[in-house]
Amino acid sequence: MSTQTVDPKPQSSAGLVQIGTTIEDKIQERLAEERARLEREAGVAKREVHHFKRPSEKPFTKGQRAQTTLLFGGLTWKHEKLVHGALEGLGYRAEAVPTPNVSAFQAGKEYGNNGQCNPTYFTVGNLVQYLQTLEEQGIPKQEIIDRYVFFTAGACGPCRFGMYEAEYRLALRNAGFDGFRVLLFQQSGGLNQSDTEAGLEMNIDFFLGILNALNCGDVMNEVAYALRPYEINAGETDRILDEQMDYLHEVFRKKQPWKLDEGMGKYLGGFSDTAEYIGKFVNQLKGDEYVPALQQCRDQFNSIEIDRLRVKPIVKITGEFWAQTTEGDGNFNMFNFLEREGAQVLVEPIGTWIMYMIHQVIQKYKDFKGLEEGAVLPPMWKLGTRAKIEFGFRQKVAKLKLAEAIFKSEYHKIVDSLGGIAHHLADQYELQRLGHPFYNSRAGGGEGHLEVAKNIYYSNKDLAHMVLSLKPFGCMPSTQSDGAQSAVVSNYKEMIYLPVETSGEGEINAHSRVQMALGEAKSKAKKEFAAALEANNLTLDQCRAWVEAHPESRKPLYHVPHTKGVVGGAASFVYHIASRMAAEKAN
Ligand code: SF4
Repeated sequence: MSTQTVDPKPQSSAGLVQIGTTIEDKIQERLAEERARLEREAGVAKREVHHFKRPSEKPFTKGQRAQTTLLFGGLTWKHEKLVHGALEGLGYRAEAVPTPNVSAFQAGKEYGNNGQCNPTYFTVGNLVQYLQTLEEQGIPKQEIIDRYVFFTAGACGPCRFGMYEAEYRLALRNAGFDGFRVLLFQQSGGLNQSDTEAGLEMNIDFFLGILNALNCGDVMNEVAYALRPYEINAGETDRILDEQMDYLHEVFRKKQPWKLDEGMGKYLGGFSDTAEYIGKFVNQLKGDEYVPALQQCRDQFNSIEIDRLRVKPIVKITGEFWAQTTEGDGNFNMFNFLEREGAQVLVEPIGTWIMYMIHQVIQKYKDFKGLEEGAVLPPMWKLGTRAKIEFGFRQKVAKLKLAEAIFKSEYHKIVDSLGGIAHHLADQYELQRLGHPFYNSRAGGGEGHLEVAKNIYYSNKDLAHMVLSLKPFGCMPSTQSDGAQSAVVSNYKEMIYLPVETSGEGEINAHSRVQMALGEAKSKAKKEFAAALEANNLTLDQCRAWVEAHPESRKPLYHVPHTKGVVGGAASFVYHIASRMAAEKAN
């Protein structure tokens, strides 16, 4: 080995610089040779990397807004109807694409990449299929490309949801709609993702409109599922639901976003934007534009006569976001099937998902406190700087906690306006506490720990006889939580839990598996009802006679308190009848 030292700095003597450089060059040369040898041996040949670049897309501009139709979809028709109204109220032309069916799934497979998760095939194929329908109706392809845009939620990893945007583009190109525009709003992007010259202004009015529509859609949906299995006159719930959804659609369409008075704006000068922003929030919190409309829906629902003594197993739906929401072939039309089989379906609100996203960001802030890229924690004695960092962190968390509280209270305002028939949102901190021992709550993607947590929550809180998890074929996070669910089930022996993998085929097999688990849930509900009659020394006929004498108890808004340890509505009703009978006897 050479004993010559390499001088890092050039010296005044040209000779020394020359020697230093030569040795350094030699070292680098030998290093490269050795690296190349090791790489050859290990078989890791260096290849040129070509990173994927998002193709540039023709923008959707403000000037095109009047002639352009916004397409959207992927939820239930109830959510979509209200989102439609909200978009029209904001001045957009909008259209919801129909609920995806099996032929949409096949189109997704035909035009998209292989190896995607099931919702990708359904939703991507559905858009392609819808555009093909427009073409069949005689609209030229170029006009479809120029006059329609699709907008959807976007996210970045870790599950395949991050790839949806690229999948839409690929399938559209393969189907001959190259250049068709797909607009994204980022789930984690906050309340303002707008560009004022953009065709779709994703500003606070947009997000408040969409959130209100989603929340009202959630609650209307849940109320209908809670009443339909008990209606005395078949079809009444659906008839009233249809009418009231049309009515609410008009309410959303006519709602004008709150605006700062022009004179006041001039007076406030540079502060007018902030004042308008705050005003919109205050109007959202204090205003009650939707309350009278929802109360009207409540009164219409209350005209449905229900038979509370029908013994029905309550089936809570969980699983992956899209599979548990859609009402079509994407989950084997599972909700219809369950109702036909005699169950009451407890649907999952989109609100839980929104709360989950806010909750996860708060957790992330807490976990990454002081660890942000490039952050250097000042020494202990720099108290002022440390306090500033602490204050900044607390401020961020406080803002999100406020958002959490506002969202929850707005949601519950809707539940209460619709008569309190739907459930309040499950608390995210409780879900985290329940789910974390089985599924790390920091593992993101899909529903994360929620799927496990909801299984425990709904089984343990007397809210459901059975939990049915709808898990799409090829879903990575769902596959992970499947493993954890075996541990959950072995810890909670009473639980009836069934995971069903949804795909474009296999409906009969899935239905027969659900039928088997439902058999157990039915027998659980029947035993519970029989035990309630026995504990109160009552017969079914006596209960029926009491209802006959108290017709107000057939109204959906008649309040039946929940009996601890009892899941089914009929069993709780028996306890209620017994206590009313005792009170009437005493008087
Ligand atoms: S959660 Fe599962 S099904 Fe949903 S997008 Fe992600 S990988 Fe696909």
